Amino acid sequence: RRPARPRRDLVCPRLVAPCSHKHNPSIRVMQWNILAQALGEGKDGFIRCPLEALSWRERKYQILEEILTYRPDILCLQEVDHYYDTFRPIMAGLGYHGSFLPKPWSPCLDVEHNNGPDGCALFYRRSRFSLHSTAHLRLSAMMLPTNQVAIAQTFHCQVTGRWLCVAVTHLKARSGWERLRSAQGADLLQSLQSITSHCGGQKQAELGAIPLVVCGDFNAEPSEDVYRRFSSSPLGLSSAYKLLSCDGKTEPAYTTWKIRPSGESCSTLDYIWYSHDALSVETLLDIPTEEQIGPDRLPSYHYPSDHLSLLCDISFREEPHRLL
Ligand code: NDP
Ligand code: CA
Repeated sequence: RRPARPRRDLVCPRLVAPCSHKHNPSIRVMQWNILAQALGEGKDGFIRCPLEALSWRERKYQILEEILTYRPDILCLQEVDHYYDTFRPIMAGLGYHGSFLPKPWSPCLDVEHNNGPDGCALFYRRSRFSLHSTAHLRLSAMMLPTNQVAIAQTFHCQVTGRWLCVAVTHLKARSGWERLRSAQGADLLQSLQSITSHCGGQKQAELGAIPLVVCGDFNAEPSEDVYRRFSSSPLGLSSAYKLLSCDGKTEPAYTTWKIRPSGESCSTLDYIWYSHDALSVETLLDIPTEEQIGPDRLPSYHYPSDHLSLLCDISFREEPHRLL
């Protein structure tokens, strides 16, 4: 028997006063690049991960166990190459509705015995939200279409009566592509600006923009231009995981940590962005320590992806007009 998987704690950030209450329960949001099965076995070269731990037979249950442990209301995934045969049917049985957008030229298709293209998936709990609109976006850069995508959905929250827009994306990987990522981020921000200001029509214009959550594997460290674009956009977005730090201003040291033949790579690439004027982050799932991750890094028998899942509970702030 393998030792138990290290536990991750839900932490309340010190700098936040809670807004949630009985009539305003928080919304649990999960962000996770689950590692495409075809890439993990066929392309990534995770030399310190046992082959057996990389098999779909093994990983499928590890991924589902992690999702089921936290039962998010909103689940944003990247590198999904088992949507139709696994995630859609299983999540449907658990009360979720899903949407999937494959990459136009997924690198999974180059792998022998692949299970189709990988892409982004967005699931929401049907008892909590009703779907208002869906946008399947192919991200552009300098007016040209790229191989990266995003899904943006707007919901009506059945419990609070409030609107919420959620987006999921996976930006271009690798160093040398910083300018492309920045342009993709600019394109996504522009689409989200339009979606959050127009949805709901006249009434929304009077109420102000729809609160927004953007989850993604941005493939960009906080020092990159695309991060700066997101943190300084007119949409008023903050990165939730900064709240785990003592000063509330620092991202975690890593969200992915792996060893390839080219060497070890430990970096912060994944984010949950939220509208800081309309939403408040009340709890965050902590990041495993270096000791918990272990010397072989990710993925492993305990962690089915090379990326860590991010999870937080977010609640609506009181609307200004309701405070009057
Ligand atoms: P990206 O560069 O964005 O990366 C694709 C995947 O590779 C990501 O999931 C990424 O994971 C992973 N990755 C990142 N670094 C490494 C690494 N060092 N070793 C192995 N995997 C890594 O890919 P694109 O979307 O730009 O697609 C590139 C591929 O797509 C090409 O290799 C080609 O096969 C195919 N393609 C084909 C086209 C055609 O006309 N037929 C056109 C365009 C692409 P993570 O995000 O977790 O880092
Ligand atoms: Ca990957």
